[in-house]
Amino acid sequence: MNVATILKAKGTDVTSVSPDTTLRDVAVLLTERRIGAAVVMQDKKVMGIVSERDIVKAVANGGGNALNAPVRDVMTSRVVTCSLNDSVDELMDSMTMGRFRHLPVIENGELVGIVSIGDVVKHRIAETVMETEALRLYIANG
Ligand code: AMP
Repeated sequence: MNVATILKAKGTDVTSVSPDTTLRDVAVLLTERRIGAAVVMQDKKVMGIVSERDIVKAVANGGGNALNAPVRDVMTSRVVTCSLNDSVDELMDSMTMGRFRHLPVIENGELVGIVSIGDVVKHRIAETVMETEALRLYIANG
């Protein structure tokens, strides 16, 4: 199972914001869409990623006023990405090593989707259930 399989099931929609969006507006967007991160884009280029963690940290350090700051001040600029052919195992390694839960998908230099840790866990469980069922049938018919 790879990233292409995951995107086929969940779709290719990616929530993106511009670097000058305020943290308040990002917080509203993440809440409305029930997601944990947005990709920061400018002129169709990935400039960074901002997650709920970044907003919590900004508020912890600067209080409520921090919500007026633009996302460019708190986003992570060095974005780790994945590609359509990457396996679920590779995604899990990448998320574990980088200690983050989101991976934008890039193909031919373009953003074509995003995978979260929730998607990875969901597909990993589905894979395990399928393997168990195959083994059960094999043993039953053996
Ligand atoms: P998350 O666990 O995804 O909520 O993110 C935790 C921290 O990692 C935040 O500071 C994010 O900005 C950052 N982050 C999230 N995803 C990535 C990524 N793919 N590459 C680099 N940093 C990331």
